[in-house]
Amino acid sequence: MKQILTNLLVAYTLLCASFCLAYEEQTHRGLSQAAVEASVLKGDPTVLDSLGLEPFDAPNQFRNYRNDPGSIRELVQDGSAFEDEPGIRVRHHFYNPLTGRPANSCGTEYGSTSPDWPLEDRGQIDGVGPTQHQDDSFADTRQFFLDALTKPTKDERDTKWGRTFQGLGQVIHHLQDMTQPQHVRNDMHFAYSEQTLPCVGGKSLYEHYTNLDEPGDRIRTNLPYIGYDAVYGSGDPPYLQFPTQVLAHSGWARHRRLYQPRLCFCGDQL
Ligand SMILES: [Zn+2]
Repeated sequence: MKQILTNLLVAYTLLCASFCLAYEEQTHRGLSQAAVEASVLKGDPTVLDSLGLEPFDAPNQFRNYRNDPGSIRELVQDGSAFEDEPGIRVRHHFYNPLTGRPANSCGTEYGSTSPDWPLEDRGQIDGVGPTQHQDDSFADTRQFFLDALTKPTKDERDTKWGRTFQGLGQVIHHLQDMTQPQHVRNDMHFAYSEQTLPCVGGKSLYEHYTNLDEPGDRIRTNLPYIGYDAVYGSGDPPYLQFPTQVLAHSGWARHRRLYQPRLCFCGDQL
């Protein structure tokens, strides 16, 4: 499991090493598709075969938690899209590497940090409802994986395989967010009014732009997902041993870019 996640994280890091755009649903799906297709799940047929699974492209192999069937590729994509639903769940999708804190609104923090929420490596997050209770973390996904291998009935195992691949998508969603500058500083960008959530900006122009896919404005479909040098080279293997470090250092890498001469226009600020 750790190997598969690490491969997905590495694949994603390779794809999005220096300039990665995305972050509305379809762009998360596009990024996740590129990542899973670059991973061992597709690149090494012996991985799925050794787990007793059909080949990577087999249709409708398992179901996501909405009971929709999908291939492994589609289930990972589903997970990356579901991670932003319901919308207020994104309160857990921020991390300021300068402070180690999540984003805040007028000084009040409303969520966990992006590394803490998707990993749950510092304890279970047991609030009430889907925006406070975490059921799709890396820790949960490891349990889904174990259950997929050990449950007594095929139905149970198939259900857990679906959650395993969906869960991988939910976790890599956070690595995708960590490459968006607004997610690594106190710059929340929800589609809520100032009255509902004071001190929070409106929708992200950056995410809106990168999601454009209209005649004459095919931005999303032309995003360069591949072809970048790796952020982490052979000199940095320790970071790839710990998912927390991968997420936190991705946040740092993006944060540093904000201070380079070519700044990012994200929302209402440069
Ligand atoms: Zn997000």
